[in-house]
Amino acid sequence: MGLPMNAPLHTILIIDDEVDNLHALERTLKNVAEVLTAESGAQGLKLIEQRPIELVICDQRMPQMTGIDFFKILKEKHPDIVRIILTGYTDIEDLISAINEVGLYRYITKPWNNHELGIVIQRALEHHDAQKQNRTLVQELKRMNESLEKTVSDRTHELKEANHKLQELSLTDDLTHLRNGRFFKEKMAEELNRSLRYKHPVSIILLDIDHFKKINDVFGHKTGDQALQKIAHILQKNIRNTDFAARIGGEEFVILLPETSKPQAQDMAERLRKAISKTMIFSREKKMKKQPLTASFGVSSYPHDKTKNAKKLLALADKALYRAKKKGRNRIEG
Ligand code: GH3
Ligand code: MG
Ligand code: MG
Repeated sequence: MGLPMNAPLHTILIIDDEVDNLHALERTLKNVAEVLTAESGAQGLKLIEQRPIELVICDQRMPQMTGIDFFKILKEKHPDIVRIILTGYTDIEDLISAINEVGLYRYITKPWNNHELGIVIQRALEHHDAQKQNRTLVQELKRMNESLEKTVSDRTHELKEANHKLQELSLTDDLTHLRNGRFFKEKMAEELNRSLRYKHPVSIILLDIDHFKKINDVFGHKTGDQALQKIAHILQKNIRNTDFAARIGGEEFVILLPETSKPQAQDMAERLRKAISKTMIFSREKKMKKQPLTASFGVSSYPHDKTKNAKKLLALADKALYRAKKKGRNRIEG
């Protein structure tokens, strides 16, 4: 691309203390690659720090640093440079273990055959390129994998959140934002089990707005809806963090009170009854007509009411509520 047509693709460094050898090797290999030469390991290391080199041929027997010693340093600093040692045939035996240790690509024995040497070096350079390409591919794959993992984890997170929201919606009442009957049933079974296990009391308060049909008739459905929201607000404001309120019917609400005895639940019901009866409903459209909002209450408790069955406990609260209605409304029974 940016290189001239005949520019060599690779650079080889040859290190040998015998200048004749250096020149001979240089002549043989200059057709294969660009050739640099050095007369000692130290000089060779300097060159390597100055420019990119793909392959080093180093003589073993040199006065200061041997070929193996040189390759030890090279392997540490530039493990990707291909290492080839040049050695006398008789030295090979002694070198075997050292050769393995520094991870040589090949050894070349003196005297070498020029043609064979050319082929060996060509192959070594191809080997280098293939390794380099492999490394790049592996890195690319790693990067792609990482970004894929991130996408998957982001999507999973989004899905989880959407799921959570859906779940919330399916358990929440649209008008009052209180929990609905489905959620209440689950929670009540759970809480009752806990109470049985730890021998703690648990109570429920059931309440139903008095004459709500009439309220709708006189003030209109919209005002009726607002009354429901007001009740929800009063319940939320008065119960403890550990209690929870649900709207389980048109104008019927329930409160679950963990670790609460019957008398405590009755007190809570009384507080709620008072707060609700202080609430006025009015309508601008109907010429500021006003009327207090009231509700009737039924309370039941475990173990006080001698049942550990969630359905039965709810039925008892319902019966008590019915009695409250019968006895004139705006009161608590049970
Ligand atoms: P009681 O004191 O005996 O409970 O009398 P009530 O009129 O409150 O009871 P009833 O069960 O006869 O009537 C309940 C009314 O509640 C009927 C229905 O139109 C109304 N209602 C139910 N759900 C809603 C709602 O979401 N919004 C409004 N505005 N009214 C509702
Ligand atoms: Mg009612
Ligand atoms: Mg009713």
